Amino acid sequence: MLNLVLFGPPGAGKGTQSQKLIEKHGLIHLSTGDLLRGEISQGTALGLEAKKLMDEGMLVPDEVVIGMISNKLDANKEAEGFIFDGFPRTVAQAEALDNLLESKAATISHMIALEVDAEELERRLLERGKESGRADDANPEVIRKRIKEYNDKTAPVAGFYKNQDKFKSINGIGSIDQIYGAIDAVIEQ
Ligand code: AMP
Repeated sequence: MLNLVLFGPPGAGKGTQSQKLIEKHGLIHLSTGDLLRGEISQGTALGLEAKKLMDEGMLVPDEVVIGMISNKLDANKEAEGFIFDGFPRTVAQAEALDNLLESKAATISHMIALEVDAEELERRLLERGKESGRADDANPEVIRKRIKEYNDKTAPVAGFYKNQDKFKSINGIGSIDQIYGAIDAVIEQ
C-alpha cells in the first residue's frame, strides 16, 4: 500500500495536489475538512457541532476526526492506498492513525510537507474565499486564527514523522505541475 500524508498549513495546496495524486496513483483521498463539510451540508448533529469551531478557525476535537477516518478505512478495505489531506492535525491524531493502520498491517509511507510562507497563504486563502464560498476563507481574522492553530497544534506533527524518518519537505510555491513533479519524485524514490 502507498499511504501518504499531505501536510502543510491552510492554503498550501494539499487539496489541489491530492486531486493529481488520485488521478495518477489511484489512491483514495481522505480529507477531514471535506468530510466535515459533508456532515454540515447534511445537517447532522456532528456537522452542526463542528461548524461552530470551523467558522472560528479552530480545530474540531480529535475523537471526531479520528472516528471519521476509522470509518473510511473500514469502508475501503480493498484500497491500494490513501492520501490523508488535512489529517493528522495533532500528535494525538498521528498516534491514532498509526494504531488504525497497524491493525490493518499497514503504515504511512511518507509525510510530504508543502512549504509556503504566511503572506502567500493569506493571499491564496482570500482569493479562494471569493470562489469557494467557504466562510473560513473569506475573513482575514479567521485565516490568521487557522494559521495560529496550525503553528501551535499541527506543526509538531512534522516531528512525529521525522522521528520515523518519513518526513519530506517540498517547496509549495511554483506552478501546480512543478510542485506535483517534486511530490512524484519522492513517491518514485
Ligand atoms: P480544511 O478543509 O482542511 O482546511 O479544514 C477546515 C476546518 O475543518 C479546519 O479549520 C478545522 O476546523 C476542521 N478540521 C479539518 N480537519 C481537521 C482535523 N484533522 N482535526 C481537527 N479539525 C479539523
